[in-house]
This record gives sequence, C-alpha cells and structure tokens, in this order.
Amino acid sequence: MPQTPPDAEARRAIAPVICYPTTTLPQPDLALYRAARDGAVKTSETLVPARDAGSFHVPAGQFFRISCVDGPQVGDLNLWNASDLSERFYSGKTRALHGTHLTTGDRMWSSFPHLRPVATVISDTLDWYGIDPFGGSVHDVIGTRCDPYTHNLLSGGQYHHCCHSNLTRALSDVTGLSLTQAEHHVHDVLNVFMCTGFTRDTGQYFMKASPVRPGDHLEFFAEIDLLGALSACPGGDCSSEHSSDAAACHPLLVEVFAPVAGALAGWASPPPNRYDRSHGR
Ligand SMILES: [Zn+2]
Repeated sequence: MPQTPPDAEARRAIAPVICYPTTTLPQPDLALYRAARDGAVKTSETLVPARDAGSFHVPAGQFFRISCVDGPQVGDLNLWNASDLSERFYSGKTRALHGTHLTTGDRMWSSFPHLRPVATVISDTLDWYGIDPFGGSVHDVIGTRCDPYTHNLLSGGQYHHCCHSNLTRALSDVTGLSLTQAEHHVHDVLNVFMCTGFTRDTGQYFMKASPVRPGDHLEFFAEIDLLGALSACPGGDCSSEHSSDAAACHPLLVEVFAPVAGALAGWASPPPNRYDRSHGR
C-alpha cells in the first residue's frame, strides 16, 4: 500500500498556478464587433430539427446566432474552416485557454498547426448563470458529444441519433463525403446551452437541466470562413438521459447576419499560428 508522506498536507496546500494566463492572447475588439452587428442584416437561417443536425456556412466577418426557439434544448456545435476540413475547432485547447465553459469574449480556437481563433462569442443571454453551487455552468468544452459507441459500450444496442451520428450525417450531406469519410471530421463540440460540471467528491462529469428558455441565444463572430454543423441533442435539456428517444426534444435555430460594408474597418481575419513547424530539426 502506498504510504502517505509526512508532508502530505504541505504538498496539498501549494497554491495552483494558471497553466495558460491569457493576458498575452490577442484580444477581440468586442466594441467593433458589436457596432458591426448593430446594422447587420440576416442572410440565411437553418432550423435544426430535434434529434437531428443541420449545417450552415458563415463567411469571415459575419455573425451567427444559435437560438432556443421552442423549449429547453442543448446543441452540439462543430466548426470547420470552410475550405479545409483539417482545420477544425479544438475543444481541448480552448478549454486550456478559457476554462471549462465559454461566455462572452471567449473564443473558439482551431486545431494544430493553425491554432487561431475561428469564432468569438459576442453575446450570451445565459451570462447571468455563472457557476452554480454544484460547480455547474453552461456552454461547456469539457464534454465530448453523445455517441453510439459509448452508448453501445455502456448499454448495448444501436442508437442512431446521438449527436455524433447527427453531425456525421449533416457533414456528409453538405460535403458529399461518405458517412465513413465525414465521421473522421466530426470532433469534440462546444456544448451550447448545456449545463455541466465535475462532481467535487468523485470528479465525475455531470449534467443537469439546462437553464435555457425560448428566446435565449448564443451569438458568435466568424473570424474565418466557417462551415458549421449543429446537433439538437437527443438529451433535450439534458436533465436525465441522452442517447435515447426518452427526453423531450426541440429544434434549434441558426441565423447568419452580414454587417454593412465598411462596418469592420481595421479588422482582418487572423493568420494561422506563426510557429515555424521545424520541431527542433
Ligand atoms: Zn448529444
């Protein structure tokens, strides 16, 4: 049996250090984005059906809003560079930079070797929620996405409307890729409107009923040309279970808005990461 060292409490008492202080991150100009959003006009909308996914394009410099329209519902969001699917949202690094849950001013970062902001959160009607007494908060980058493999592992059976499969079908439909090809591009999500955390005693991932209500939204500025896919999770508000048809589910609305010409004067799409990729050779 491992022995507890005599200085165990002293070691536990060492104060934590933030891994990635964000003071040197390039900061978004939220005032510029908001001013541009004020005069923006809607150019498209996609109603994502319950227990299914939909896709949408957002040109760089435009906005997209995800809205709860019918009843409490969680959405699983994937983002890709519209002209290069190998550049995609990197949930793990976004978590390392901004924390477990995103809110206004936080950014969605892309995979290596690009590692640049691909979308910036410009408004969040659930900003008020904060962190609840259980350690829960909304819009997490700690979960992955519900998927039929984990479901099969834990419960057996074949369930086809997990977010993973919904996103796979949506990407296949919009790109013409086969389901097998498309599946390789589906990645860990931003859990829009989902309320989650880790239990303090066992460190387990938990979910609870989302505080989202019809009229709530999360809105983004597209930093690069984006292809997005959003799944309306079969877990509904994720108050009890997912990976089944048991929960009440609702559609989600995605709307794209274009600012007027000149509204983003001085803004430029962020370049790919400047690391030289020589890796010491
Ligand atoms: Zn799901």
